[in-house]
Formats: sequence, C-alpha cells, structure tokens
Amino acid sequence: MPIKDSTVLPNRVGLSDINWQLRGVNSVKKQFLGLVALLCVGVVLVGCEPGADPTAASEQSRHSADEAEAFSEFSQAFIDAMLEHHPEWAIYQGHYDSAGEVSIPTEQQREANLAFWREWLGRLEAFDVDSLTPKQQPEFALLKNALESRIWYQEVFKNWAWNPATYNIAGPVAILLNTEFAPEETRYRLVMQRLADAGAYYEAAKQNIERPTLEHIDLALVRSQGIFSVINDDLLDAVRDSELSATEKAQFEQHFEAAQRAVRDWIDYLGALSEQWADHENPRSFRIGEDLYEEKFRLDIQSQFDASELYRRALAEKEALLAEMDVITIELWSKYFPQTPMPDKQFERIGQLVSFLSDQHVELDEFVPEIRRQIPLLADFVRDNDLLFQDPSKPLVVRETPEYMRGGGAIASVSSPGPFNPGAETYYNITPLEYFGEEAAASYLREYNDWVLQILNIHEGIPGHYTQLLHANRSPSLVKSLFRNGAMIEGWAVYAERMMLEEGWGDHEPELWLMHGKWLLRVVHNAILDYEVHVQGKTRNEVVDMLQTQAFQEASEANQKWRRLTLSQVQLTSYYTGYAEIYALREQMKQAQGEAFSLRDWHNEFLSFGSAPVSEIAKLMRE
Ligand code: ZN
Repeated sequence: MPIKDSTVLPNRVGLSDINWQLRGVNSVKKQFLGLVALLCVGVVLVGCEPGADPTAASEQSRHSADEAEAFSEFSQAFIDAMLEHHPEWAIYQGHYDSAGEVSIPTEQQREANLAFWREWLGRLEAFDVDSLTPKQQPEFALLKNALESRIWYQEVFKNWAWNPATYNIAGPVAILLNTEFAPEETRYRLVMQRLADAGAYYEAAKQNIERPTLEHIDLALVRSQGIFSVINDDLLDAVRDSELSATEKAQFEQHFEAAQRAVRDWIDYLGALSEQWADHENPRSFRIGEDLYEEKFRLDIQSQFDASELYRRALAEKEALLAEMDVITIELWSKYFPQTPMPDKQFERIGQLVSFLSDQHVELDEFVPEIRRQIPLLADFVRDNDLLFQDPSKPLVVRETPEYMRGGGAIASVSSPGPFNPGAETYYNITPLEYFGEEAAASYLREYNDWVLQILNIHEGIPGHYTQLLHANRSPSLVKSLFRNGAMIEGWAVYAERMMLEEGWGDHEPELWLMHGKWLLRVVHNAILDYEVHVQGKTRNEVVDMLQTQAFQEASEANQKWRRLTLSQVQLTSYYTGYAEIYALREQMKQAQGEAFSLRDWHNEFLSFGSAPVSEIAKLMRE
C-alpha cells in the first residue's frame, strides 16, 4: 500500500488505510464525487428555525446569508490554496495542476506548512459557526479538524521523525502512470519531474529520522522495495516507445537512474538503521501511550466519545454479542450436531458451530456471479421495505478488480470517481479468489460463506457504502468530498448490516445472525485491542490468543492483526466508533419521536449531510 500524502499527514485516517482493515474485505477505495447531477427526490430540508420576533428573524437570516456566502468563498479559496501548497495531496484528490512538484520534507518546508495552516485556521475561526447554514456547519468542523490535525501531527505527534515509512516516492508516481487524465506523454513528463527530485527528497528524509520504532523501520524496508514495482524497466521501456522526443527520452533515463540510485541508497540507510536500533537498549516503542492516543482519537475520529469511553462501550458490546451468539448456538446445536454433546464452555460451543457452518459456501467459480446476483435483490428489499431512498437510475457496476489494483490483500472494494473527475461509473470490485492461490482461496470461501457473503454485499453495496455515496452526491460539497470523515463512512456500512437483518433481510434466519455476530465481533475487537495495545500495553501473545479464542478468528488473521496494531494507531477503532454512534443516535431519536418516528425519513435525513462526522450530524438532527 503506498503511503498517502507523505509530507503532509502520513498517518491520517485515509480510505486507502481502510483497505487494510478486516483483512481488506471491508475496503472502500472511495473518493466521493460531488458533482454528478442526480434526481432530487425527497430531499429532507433541515434548519428552518422559527424566530419569535419576525424582525429579529429576518435580520438574523440576512446576517446568516452574508456569512454563509462568505464561508462558501472562503472554502473554495482554501481548497485552491491547499491544492497548490500540497501537490501530493492534490494528486490523491485527482487534481494534477502541480503534479510535477515534489514537497521536499525539509525543516524549512515544515515551517512553511505550519505558517500556511495557522494562517488559514485563523481565517476560519473568524467565522461565527452559528450563523452558517446547517449544511455548512459540519463543513466548518471538517475544515477546523483538517487544519488542527495537520498542525498536531507535525508539532506533537512528529511521526515524520520516527516513522521512516512516511517517506516513499512511489504513490504519486503510480497514480500519474495509472490514471488517464492527460495524454501519456504529458504524464511521463510529470513523472520525470518527480523522479528528478528523488535524491533531494531522500536526503531530507534521512535528516529527519531521530529515534524510529523497529516496526516502522521494517515497514519502510518492505515498502521501499515495493517502489521498484512502479519505477522499473517496464516504465523505462514504455517511455522509450512513447512519443517523447529523443532529448526528453534521454533526460528521462537520466532522472530514472538517479531516482533508482536514491531509493537503493535509502534502502541501505534503512538496513543500517535497523541494525543500529535492534541492538539499542532503548528503542522507541510503537505504543503511543494514553495522552497521544486520546488526542489522536479526538482528531482522527471526531467522535462525541473520548477514547476511553469508546473502549468501555466496545467491551460491553462484546459481552452482548457473545450472549446473543450463545443463545443462537444453543438453539441450533442439535440441528447440526445431533450426536455430539454441547461443550460447557461458551467460547467452545460458539466456535465449533461457526466453524462447522463456514463450510457452507459457493464454489470458487460462482463467487463473483453470486455477488452480481445479490445486488439487485438487496436494492429490491430496500425499496419494498421502504428503508431509504435508493436511486434506481444509477446501478452499481459489479466487476472483477482490475489487475493494477490487486495485490493489496483486498477482496472487495468500491471505486467511484473523485470530486474532480465526475461522471464515471461507480464500481464494486471483486478480486476473483483464484488470484490468491488455492489454499488461500479455500480459506476465503469459508470466511465468505453463504451468510457472510450477504453481509459483505450489504456493507460494500446496498445499502452500505454505495448507497451512502449516492446520497452524499445529492448534496455536492467539495469540502465533504475532500475532508470526509472515515468513521462515518465505515460506521454507516457496519450499521447497514445490522439494520438490514433487523428489518428482515434473510427472514431472521438464526445462522445469518450468528455469522453477523462473528463479523461484528471482529469490528468490536479491533477497537478493544487498539486501545489495549497502545494504552494498556497488551502483548502479542495476549492479542493473538484473544482473537482466536474469543473472536473465533483464524491464526493467520490474528497474527496479521497484531502486525497491523503495531503499525497503526486509532484507525482500527473507526468502524466501531462510527457504528456505535449511529446506532445510539437512531435509538435515541426513535425513543424521543415515538409513533412519529419513520426509519426511512431518519435514514434519508442522516445521509443527506454527506460524509461528515457523526457527532456533527447528530447535533443538527437533534435540533
Ligand atoms: Zn467498508
């Protein structure tokens, strides 16, 4: 996985990070397009506040109109400035005007960044948030968070000094090569400009590393080797065959070779670094500790809860889920094991039944066709049961994952055009399981058995990520497309799974509920273990054991999760946090509204705010 936005905000929750999650299955490679015109049916209007004094009300609204207008102009100016100031960030957003410029990660660059962010934060804070429109208020929160995060990452978290995997030249280059936004020759020229700066880039990187963690040195080594899958002889051959002039080709070759040398030199440096710190008596721990964890959680997730509160909720949810799963297990035991006595231990009996049922799955060659078959059924169910507005004019295109997108370990993802590339189709990408080899394919088939496959389709497709995307597009907002909240996006997809089962998808089949329990247990454990490892110091053996015995995960999954826990912080909690907040908000409003509560209206209104933090949406919906 390429590092995103390497000089700006390397560890920020990004959708490509989310691809790692849940063995990559819940992945969503999603850039929310904001510009496609969609039918405007049933839009929920919010925020017509009744004013007691009509004169005061009209003055208030005049003032708001000015303020709202000024805020729109400010947002646009800020986005333009960001795209110019952070060329790598712009590339990831699908904007290529300054794509040939490389941000060299020097001290000077960091000072310039800080001045830039502080200036814009000052201008932002001059707005009176209460006088903005209900759609703008979450945008204000997103922009404030984006700026405060960047400042905090650079000044306090300082991963630029301890995480050498922050530095990687391949990501932007791969996008320029794989995205057909301009003729090939134009893109090769941009790549050439970037390669020309590789030496300076890695020299600056070396100056930055102070006390790295061993785990991140190792990650940097793996990912730096990976650069040669992008900057290799195939690229050079393609350039030689291109329409570039002979002079340009010679120039390209020269920069290409210098860039390869710079990467090899960087890899040597990392090797030496690894030896140096492996013997060191006091290397930096990958555990970030409570103070940094709480602050990172606040900035990355933008939740109404703090990290310790979220952790306590996850623990309670785990117990509730296990109790639910146990009731089902006891109920189903004699159906599947008529001759076998039921184990006394809860974890054992649930584990045995889950394992037994996992053998019920489609055949290898039916995997993609079965997904294709289910999507329209899900759309029908949502419409027939009046669960939310599902736009029938924009069907989701199910396809096999294109070759160049494979290899990240992800089985399923959703691709949609970025905000600057509207109009294209939205795809549900499925990697054919044969791709992973025979043994892994067999294991995946068990994992995505007859029941979990339905849950996966709900999550990625309808009414999960794809439906949320369609709704977000109906109120186009560049701010919400560019600074979207990952916890809301993932939380919605996890919420959709449970909501569909509650509303009768699968006819309340106990096996489906059991498998949903296992699926959600993994999400809940991600949140629990992230906190326990980083704040409470849980060890590798404890983590692996808990995942296998209490969450019914395979050994390979458990070991992989440990590695993930050592390399990231907070991101693993985003699924559960978003889900817990959305579910709690719905239950609270359902209770408050009583008979008047309509699930359809609630969903449509919730989704109308776009990919904003759930805490912000909650404020507006409660008003
Ligand atoms: Zn997802």
